Amino acid sequence: MSDCLFCKIVARTIPAPLVYEDDLVVAFDDINPQAPIHTLVIPRKHVVSLAELQDSDAELLGRLLLVGSKVAKLKGIAEPGYRVVVNTGSHGGQSVFHLHLHVLGGRHLAWPPG
Ligand code: AMP
Ligand code: ZN
Repeated sequence: MSDCLFCKIVARTIPAPLVYEDDLVVAFDDINPQAPIHTLVIPRKHVVSLAELQDSDAELLGRLLLVGSKVAKLKGIAEPGYRVVVNTGSHGGQSVFHLHLHVLGGRHLAWPPG
């Protein structure tokens, strides 16, 4: 989608150093980190949110989570642990409407979220 920020990162028209990339997804550090490690994992194709996923996106969704796990290992937070968050829609706090996983860690994270 031409006016989507994350599509522009995928297309490399907006710079964001990539932490990881493959045929389906890319990962890059959040510009406004909420924890010492805060990396975003996004599909290359434009999907608005978790709410828009189709049954045919099962492989893509699996890959997103697998890459979330891989990024946590790359960033050295697999131990002692981390959190994966998918803000969805207005009540979920989503601000960029291109599906993304937040991988957060490097400090103890409070629960429940605000
Ligand atoms: P959400 O609020 O769940 O939609 O998350 C969107 C995230 O994208 C926020 O944490 C922003 O800080 C992050 N973000 C916005 N613009 C950029 C950018 N150019 N590069 C990296 N992260 C960004
Ligand atoms: Zn997009």
